[in-house]
Amino acid sequence: MSEVLSVESLVAQLRNGAVIVDGISFAIRQSETFALLGESGCGKSMTALSLLRLMPDGVALTSGSVRLQGDELLHLTEAEMCRVRGGCMAMIFQEPGLSLNPVLTVGQQIGEVLALHDRLAGTAVQARIVELLQQVGIPDPERRAGEYPFQLSGGMKQRVMVAMALAGEPQLLIADEPTTALDVTIQAQVLQLLRDTQASSGMAILLITHDLGVVAEMAHQVAVMYAGQIVERASRPQLFSQPLHPYTQKLFAALPDARRDGAPLEAIPGSVPALNAMPTGCRFAPRCDRAWELCRAEAPEWTELEGRGVRCHLYSESVVDHLQSLAEKS
Ligand code: SF4
Ligand code: MG
Repeated sequence: MSEVLSVESLVAQLRNGAVIVDGISFAIRQSETFALLGESGCGKSMTALSLLRLMPDGVALTSGSVRLQGDELLHLTEAEMCRVRGGCMAMIFQEPGLSLNPVLTVGQQIGEVLALHDRLAGTAVQARIVELLQQVGIPDPERRAGEYPFQLSGGMKQRVMVAMALAGEPQLLIADEPTTALDVTIQAQVLQLLRDTQASSGMAILLITHDLGVVAEMAHQVAVMYAGQIVERASRPQLFSQPLHPYTQKLFAALPDARRDGAPLEAIPGSVPALNAMPTGCRFAPRCDRAWELCRAEAPEWTELEGRGVRCHLYSESVVDHLQSLAEKS
């Protein structure tokens, strides 16, 4: 399957030099869902906004590469980037209520996306709007097209957001916590809708979430982010059968699990470090119960293992060799 998105060593910085996205690399293929997983404040949303070049004021991409089907997005002009957004790369956000325009009807808003990216005119536009609303499972789409966002439930609004994203026929859909604001039943329906759409269109999905349940249901590949870096990358089966990084292991331990028979949930002690207070050495060391001196002195390198990778001294070759030689001597 061909690569849709390829991100290499992407760095985003504040004006004062503080690094908020620190050398992120990953690739997503056609028909693949790639999840960025982590607690809030880990840099997941900033990574997504960086790909779209929609960072907040004061944040700049200072190095790296973002290629969408081979084209380097960091070299595009803002006008060219506008055509990419909502076209071959679309985004849906956590809070559909905030992303929809309250004074335009649902149909008008989808029509705007079509006008930007399509040469449809007149009745063909109307027909395509109804078709898109139907595709995302909105009942009575002709009537709904004439309604305003306030007339729709939260789940319907999120469906409209998906319809708007699909209107540009994206090769890549970026979905930032797309179901976090929805109740469980609607959440399941929206996830199903994304899977169905992917199956019929072959679009790639970058899914940003803090929810391991959503990852379990949706993702083919997973990258775990911590303090602006990817600390582990694996296929979903690899990650769920054997999480390697102590942070990933903690995320799993914190998961409510009926099988653990009332055993207390393990919360991860401490919190994600602030940008101006990044620990030297491993950024997770203050919260890691396996940390030793090396962890506090030296930042771990990225280690590639079979089909996956991890950023932790426990897996770096030199440390593993050293521990083995100690074991042999004793
Ligand atoms: Fe824990 Fe050390 Fe691995 Fe960091 S490098 S995650 S502190 S064991
Ligand atoms: Mg976020």
